Amino acid sequence: MKNLFLTEEHELFRTTLQDFFKAEVNPYINEWEKNGKVDRSVLKKMGEMGFLGLEVEEKYGGMGADFMYTMILCEEMGRTGSCGFATVVSAHAYLAMNYLVHAGSPFIKEKYLVPSITGQKIGSLSMTEPFAGSDLRAIRTTAKLEGDHYIVDGSKTFISNGYYGDYTVAAVKTETGISMMVIDLDAEGVSKAKLDKVGIRCSDTAELAFNGVKVPKENLLGEEGKGFYYMMESLQVERLTLAISNIGLMQYVLDITLQYMSERMAFGKSIDKFQVLRHRIADIATDIEGWKSFMMQTSYRLAQGEHVVKECSMLKMKTSDLLTQMVYECGQMFGGYGFMEEYPIGRIYRDVRVIPVYGGTSEIMKEIIAKMVIDKKSYKPAYKA
Ligand SMILES: Cc1cc2nc3c(=O)[nH]c(=O)nc-3n(C[C@H](O)[C@H](O)[C@H](O)COP(=O)(O)OP(=O)(O)OC[C@H]3O[C@@H](n4cnc5c(N)ncnc54)[C@H](O)[C@@H]3O)c2cc1C
Repeated sequence: MKNLFLTEEHELFRTTLQDFFKAEVNPYINEWEKNGKVDRSVLKKMGEMGFLGLEVEEKYGGMGADFMYTMILCEEMGRTGSCGFATVVSAHAYLAMNYLVHAGSPFIKEKYLVPSITGQKIGSLSMTEPFAGSDLRAIRTTAKLEGDHYIVDGSKTFISNGYYGDYTVAAVKTETGISMMVIDLDAEGVSKAKLDKVGIRCSDTAELAFNGVKVPKENLLGEEGKGFYYMMESLQVERLTLAISNIGLMQYVLDITLQYMSERMAFGKSIDKFQVLRHRIADIATDIEGWKSFMMQTSYRLAQGEHVVKECSMLKMKTSDLLTQMVYECGQMFGGYGFMEEYPIGRIYRDVRVIPVYGGTSEIMKEIIAKMVIDKKSYKPAYKA
């Protein structure tokens, strides 16, 4: 059936991506997991293919494409089956770069955005602190203006790409409120520690300490004091891209489960002949179809310039919960083999624990949705204000 939201060019792009991931990502997933690192060369290759700057203006080296291309990229990243790989790319291309695109000055764009599109520089986003996770207004990291520089003191935690990346887009407290600025991770006074995680092990996660770090005034993003609004705006896209990858991963999990069920014999037949398991698959396939339609529609509305805060939160919350439940149920179909490292479902079981947590927890998603549905709260676009 023809997809109402996608053109032939979009579908062609999907095929190109699938071929790329099959050759450049799938064979290396286990090795990256073991090394705790995605090979930097794949990001450079993605940069060369134009995958890291899909929506960015052509004058900065981007493709000037619409959000539906981003949707396809995120879905296909999910379909590689590596949540860690998807996290590395998303933290760079959607968490960090989003701020450079929307709030970066021409100087920032030349210095950080252009090399980010080619994959020469890898970015991260530093919002979370040891005492400020869901409650981002509670951040304590300070940036004091002294002449031509800000002096940054404080710490951040759980920062994806914070260990191997080159720069971080950090939320800091300035005199006027919360502001965003770009900090080079090799600057004097920055120290990093790599965190040991339960899952998504190929995605590096860091604790960062800033000790009197001198950050040039030009590295401020947008206006001082507007950082909280920029974060609220950018989180919308972050959550949507996470939800899209969740749906891609659901499709991958369904595919490998169906394959396994068709091959595994019990009581003289393949296990995909047992009605109880068939009905479970029917439920799962229905959930995927339903949420995929909502994802397409929401992505399309975002591509048309609509502000879809509620829908992004709904998608993030529900796809995270569904994915978690689905991985458990599909893992059950693998019997003991589902608990073995050799089978991707085991790794994915570990990986998905973080899905309802990062990018805003499911409880926070419910808070946003409830405020919009019950209290009729609305959120204005920050970058256009
Ligand atoms: C692997 C990983 C990668 C991450 N990557 C990044 C990154 O790149 N950049 C970044 O800035 N952050 C990142 N994070 C941080 C992530 O966004 C936070 O962990 C998350 O927002 C929750 O914050 P917290 O861990 O401090 O939990 P808390 O905020 O302390 O929450 C603890 C519990 O209380 C609940 N809770 C809190 N407030 C409320 C409320 N008002 N109502 C109901 N329940 C509530 C939460 O839902 C949660 O269940 C990452 C985290 C992980 C684990």
